[in-house]
Amino acid sequence: MKLYSTKNKEKLASLKEAVLKGLPDDNGLYMPLAIPRLPAEFLANLEAYSFQEIAYTVADALFQGVIPESDLRKIITESINFPAPVVQLNEQEYVLELFHGPSLAFKDFGARFMAQLMSYFNQGEKRELVILVATSGDTGGAVAAGFYQTPGTQVVILYPSGKVSMLQEKQLTTLGQNITALEVEGTFDDCQAMVKEAFLDPELNQVIRLTSANSINISRLIPQSFYYFEAYKQLPKDGRDTVFCVPSGNFGNLTAGMIAQRMGLPIQHFIAATNVNDVVPEYLESGLFSPRPSTRTLSNAMDVGNPSNFARMLDLFEGLPESSTWNNMKENISGYAFTDVETRAAVADVDSKYGYVIDPHGAVGYLALKAYQKTHPKTKGVILETAHPSKFLDDVEAILGREIEVPERLAILARRKKEAVLLPSRFAALKEWLLKTMA
Ligand SMILES: *Cc1c(COP(=O)(O)O)cnc(C)c1O
Repeated sequence: MKLYSTKNKEKLASLKEAVLKGLPDDNGLYMPLAIPRLPAEFLANLEAYSFQEIAYTVADALFQGVIPESDLRKIITESINFPAPVVQLNEQEYVLELFHGPSLAFKDFGARFMAQLMSYFNQGEKRELVILVATSGDTGGAVAAGFYQTPGTQVVILYPSGKVSMLQEKQLTTLGQNITALEVEGTFDDCQAMVKEAFLDPELNQVIRLTSANSINISRLIPQSFYYFEAYKQLPKDGRDTVFCVPSGNFGNLTAGMIAQRMGLPIQHFIAATNVNDVVPEYLESGLFSPRPSTRTLSNAMDVGNPSNFARMLDLFEGLPESSTWNNMKENISGYAFTDVETRAAVADVDSKYGYVIDPHGAVGYLALKAYQKTHPKTKGVILETAHPSKFLDDVEAILGREIEVPERLAILARRKKEAVLLPSRFAALKEWLLKTMA
């Protein structure tokens, strides 16, 4: 497998380089040079394959033998080890539950697969890989759980003191072993600036093998395409067109869906669902892409004003002949945006109509699918439910006016003891700590 940068298609990287570096030097994004079509026999018989067999087949097709079969099977077994069930709401609407992993959000798939690939590619190196991440809440939890006990890796997570929720903090600070949480006396921006400086510091990089668990690492995108196949397999075969509705922020999930489609999965159309941070729906409408600062909303994991995967979306559509990139994208994706008032009403609506508790991100997806199906009534739509509603407990309980169920793996966290290293928000303090602890 070879990958190019969206900013320079001539300069190719190996999978190992792309996974360990995360970003090309030119600040583009890595994209697979070839997205192979899967065999028709496989696509027509998905129900004969387990989720892990599907994941193996998709990954192997993309990797093109870079990772030997037994190693790749082990990587899949260790990472894709919780289900992605489809739940039916009605004749037309289905929910794909992506929250059955340790941090109760779809990011677990990407974080776990990335951890396994990094550990695999670091084999034979004398020094451990030190993964440095700044988090404002959710990403850190998925990364911590994903790398927990992964051989050859140490994870150092910086988070802003007092600015993450109690449960988010517990996800970062209670695992121990190869996971260390640094509680920074500052903001998320301070944490991010400290991490950036660490990657640029020659002395640190000489003595420590530093890498990032960046959300745009290609190894986080690839496993997100697996569950589109897994979802399709669970739908009735009734000849109706299938559309996927993706609650989106940085558009990694939607990009992964488009890769699944290019590999031959018969997805008729995508729906990009956003909150009021609607730069992509706006682009689909007008052809103009205007990134801007984000606005805080109820579906806060989608509060993104400059979606990082937009460059990949453009890249996927510009190669197609006969039309502009914008036209190509519009034909394949419809965009819809909703306010918090509408989102709250949708959480209540799904509960009263179907007895299903949907989280605010999924609720934005529900609204978008409804809007699309007004003009496309004969389709069946799958909403990606990106997180468990109990991750947004206060909001969801306030909307529904009653308590909701909290899964045991989340409840247990509240009882665990926090362990974190308190650090002033200065790079010098981080550097000193890293040299003392990790070198
Ligand atoms: C990260 C996240 C999203 C946004 O996903 P993208 O791939 O960035 O578009 C949506 N919902 C939840 C719950 C998330 O954590």
